[in-house]
Amino acid sequence: MSNPVPPRRAPDDPWRSEGAPPPPPPRKKMPGGWWGLVLMAVVVYLITSLVISLIRSGTKEPTVSYTEFNKQVTAGNIAKIYSKDESIEGELKTKAPLPDGDGDYTKFMTQRPAFATDDLWGELSRQNVTVTAEPVVEKTSFWPSLLIAFLPMLLLIAVWVFAARRMGAALGGGVLGRKEPPKPVALLPGKRTTFADVAGIDEVEGELNDVVDFLKNPDAYRRMGARMPGGVLLAGAPGTGKTLLARAVAGEAGVPFFSASASEFIEMIVGVGAGRVRELFSEARKVAPAIVFIDEIDTIGRVRGGGAGLGGHDEREQTLNQILTEMDGFTGSEGVVVLAATNRADVLDPALTRPGRFDRVVQVSPPDRPGREAILRIHTREIPLDADVDLARIAASTPGMTGADLANLANEAALIAVKRKQTAVTQADLFSALEKVQLGAERPLVLAPDERRRTAYHESGHALLGMLQPGADPVRKVTIVPRGRALGVTLSTPEADKYAYTESYLRGRIIGALGGMAAEHVVFEVITTGAESDLEQVTALARGMVGRWGMSERVGRLTAIPQDAQVPYGLSAAPETLDSVDHEMRRIVDECYESACNQLRENRDRLDSLAAALLENETLDEEAAYRAAGVPRLAKGDA
Ligand code: ADP
Ligand code: MG
Ligand code: ZN
Repeated sequence: MSNPVPPRRAPDDPWRSEGAPPPPPPRKKMPGGWWGLVLMAVVVYLITSLVISLIRSGTKEPTVSYTEFNKQVTAGNIAKIYSKDESIEGELKTKAPLPDGDGDYTKFMTQRPAFATDDLWGELSRQNVTVTAEPVVEKTSFWPSLLIAFLPMLLLIAVWVFAARRMGAALGGGVLGRKEPPKPVALLPGKRTTFADVAGIDEVEGELNDVVDFLKNPDAYRRMGARMPGGVLLAGAPGTGKTLLARAVAGEAGVPFFSASASEFIEMIVGVGAGRVRELFSEARKVAPAIVFIDEIDTIGRVRGGGAGLGGHDEREQTLNQILTEMDGFTGSEGVVVLAATNRADVLDPALTRPGRFDRVVQVSPPDRPGREAILRIHTREIPLDADVDLARIAASTPGMTGADLANLANEAALIAVKRKQTAVTQADLFSALEKVQLGAERPLVLAPDERRRTAYHESGHALLGMLQPGADPVRKVTIVPRGRALGVTLSTPEADKYAYTESYLRGRIIGALGGMAAEHVVFEVITTGAESDLEQVTALARGMVGRWGMSERVGRLTAIPQDAQVPYGLSAAPETLDSVDHEMRRIVDECYESACNQLRENRDRLDSLAAALLENETLDEEAAYRAAGVPRLAKGDA
């Protein structure tokens, strides 16, 4: 379960598959490709020239100058001689030193210059030198020279056969390897992901049941002449289980599953992606019924003209068009169902969601409370749990967390239990893990006393204002132990899952977020860099209120700012509207800051006592924090 996607068949494969029979050997013409061939040729050449030079060096006679030869003739030291054209070879009677002083020689070769006018024949016959008809110097014999002539070819053939055999063995077939027909792998139902591994998104499972049913018995649908939807698009936040779900559909139906991330198709070279798509679909058709899953389809399926994605426009578009072409080509009876996933359904090209393509869009949402409990149950199946563990309570304190967050939480708890040398995971481990997941890992950072004091007031400001805003999320934890990037953390989570927010709630959130800065302002009259991420949060909230949620009279009830940079900022609305947005954002934030400072001044005693408690204890939980601040806990929830 830790690995949401099946392994790749080969590292350079652009997609992964499971439950599919092994592929037939590829039709590669040259083992190792053309580069392999070039390399092989170089190796063969080197070996051959080495061998030839070794053989030659054994029979090589010294070549002496004609002057040296003439000297030996004059000295009467020539025993035998053989000549062909101008070249002369011979043997001395007694060995003589080589003129360049490199040892002695008896046999030799030399070259008679064409302009020599000496009477060599007269001289030699006078000395009774035998002039033979056979070469005096032994030439390399017949077999070795034949070998030398054919060595390169023999080597080439040997290497090729070797490479072909190895490839053949690796792929279970091939030109010279053993031939073995590919066997379909047994589908192990217990090993594959099924709906039993997915929880908390029952309504989505329901929608996908049709697909499972179709894949299980396509014949029934075929007889009815019914067409399956070409594709199903799963849309939802990251970590909500889209990939898991797609895999579970394949596992549930017991059909092969091919998966690829859209970004894996894209290369800088135009046309590569389209080729890979074609290959993937043809592979899937061969083993149909099957599922093709394309993850993160928004990387190639964005509305055209909206910000260049990976690898340039042409490549993106060609790849996308190829996917659409493949889907249009389905006759429905082939039994290949395409699932795709995206984090952003709103940015997709409408061409994708046309009938016959991804005409079913299934929204995958973060789980609700019972759903979270069920997901926790799945991810603690293999973890020994202590009797005191109450997963329902953990589920209650994790609103907004996705399936992936919860899987991570369960794993963190198990890691903590191992570190604490326990035999089972306890409730305390789960809460420690939750703290780590929500607040970030602790950082061993020693703060100077005055910085620590300022941090205590900063966090107290957040926490106190969080407690004082009516309808705000309760403060769950305040700490001045540095965690992650922050020097301190104040954690507020809602009592129950929230799906819509009121204007006063959002203002409360802004006031709470400004609380840290306001406290430093009120108490120390300084402004530090510690409020950076607070201000980012404030800006995002204010922009949403004014530009998207119609909470400003002056801007009015319209979307002045699109959700992200689909449309360049300046073009989303008239310049006056954007000016108003800016003005209104400032007004809201200024009002909230004013209110935050005022509330802190009015409640200075509470702020001081909360900061003092923090300095003493470093971390306060919900109850201790409200007690230290002297704020009554209003609506007591179930947590
Ligand atoms: P997405 O593709 O939506 O980003 P994933 O499917 O990759 O999310 O989810 C990552 C992991 O989180 C999964 O492998 C699984 O362990 C866990 N997970 C997510 N959602 C669920 C769920 N509904 N039920 C069980 N586990 C889940
Ligand atoms: Mg995914
Ligand atoms: Zn802060």
